[in-house]
Amino acid sequence: MNDPALSLLGLPRRDLEQFFVGIGEKPFRARQVMKWIYGRGVTDPGQMTDLGLALRHDLAARAPIRLPAVLTTQESADGTVKWRLDAGSGQVIETVFIPEPGRGTLCVSSQVGCAMNCPFCATGHQGFNRNLSAAEIIAQVLLARRDLGDLDEGRSPITNVVFMGMGEPLANFRSVVQACDILVDDLACKLSRRRVTVSTSGLVPQIKRLASESRVALAVSLHAPDDELRNRLVPINRMHPIAELLAACWAYVEATNTREITVEYVMLDGVNDSPEHARRLASLLRGRPAKLNLIPFNPFAGAGFRRSAPEVIERFRNLLSASGIVTVTRRTRGDDIAAACGQLAGQVDNRVRTPLGSRHGEDLWN
Ligand code: SAH
Ligand code: SF4
Repeated sequence: MNDPALSLLGLPRRDLEQFFVGIGEKPFRARQVMKWIYGRGVTDPGQMTDLGLALRHDLAARAPIRLPAVLTTQESADGTVKWRLDAGSGQVIETVFIPEPGRGTLCVSSQVGCAMNCPFCATGHQGFNRNLSAAEIIAQVLLARRDLGDLDEGRSPITNVVFMGMGEPLANFRSVVQACDILVDDLACKLSRRRVTVSTSGLVPQIKRLASESRVALAVSLHAPDDELRNRLVPINRMHPIAELLAACWAYVEATNTREITVEYVMLDGVNDSPEHARRLASLLRGRPAKLNLIPFNPFAGAGFRRSAPEVIERFRNLLSASGIVTVTRRTRGDDIAAACGQLAGQVDNRVRTPLGSRHGEDLWN
């Protein structure tokens, strides 16, 4: 949505205050409007009854909040919900809600497609169209909340937000940081910063910036224990190799005073899942502030990879655990509706010519 009218939605508190000062109003109007939007889910300024009538009319004319249209809502047998949202010009993005006992995780998209070109990822295969605005990111949260309804005593079913949908969040730095601001603001989504996770394929300079500008939880898609393999699986590695990436991660933990980062590792049959890979991975992570998340590969048409067998994943996990690394295997959720990690494809007209490496697993492995 390039519609400036939507911008009120994506504005962090300070920017919203400036907006009101800019139209001759008092800064506290920002608090009132945020309470309406995020506290009560009211996006029509006409209904914001503690604003004067003239201001309500002015906002309705100047800044009506339009949420993207929901094209489809699908629910998986395991309770996972996937929304396909209209991003204009024929583009479609996807948002996923994953309920678990005691928590509910919303997985949001940050871009229409992705330019990073990781060959095992459906979004990567789609290519890249454009960045989402902060408003479009926050709109995903509002729409999901609206659809899911509140729990008892008005509690939101969304306890965690992860930037693990379509796109590389740190390649859309400004909008993602703005959205994170709103997610953790007491007047808006009220999440603690530990419950907002940005997952990156490894944009080192942006990891450094994030430490000073947001301090949310960080997850890093490692997927390989050596540069030769990672160059092929996560092509951005050619610019920022593993040693540089991990150094930035440890510095992030230090600078943000968090306990650890999450290292993500997709389990690809015969590619990165041998005991030798496990040993090398262990030597990278041993004694470091990291927990390891093994993600069984989720297939999609034309991927050219297979998921590691359960016993191979279990052997890998045991080797890492035995080295003292906290390792969990991520349960596959929503794969019957193509909502699992790496299966989100939306509808993307690719506008870049694959800047990084080859597009297909077949080209790499056959
Ligand atoms: N662009 C971000 C967020 C991506 S989604 C990133 O790459 O970190 C979250 C995780 O799912 C990432 O670790 C990503 O590498 C992984 N993933 C991508 N495709 C996958 C697939 N087909 N199966 C399993 N995990 C996949
Ligand atoms: Fe982009 Fe992440 Fe998919 Fe790589 S894994 S193509 S960075 S969305």
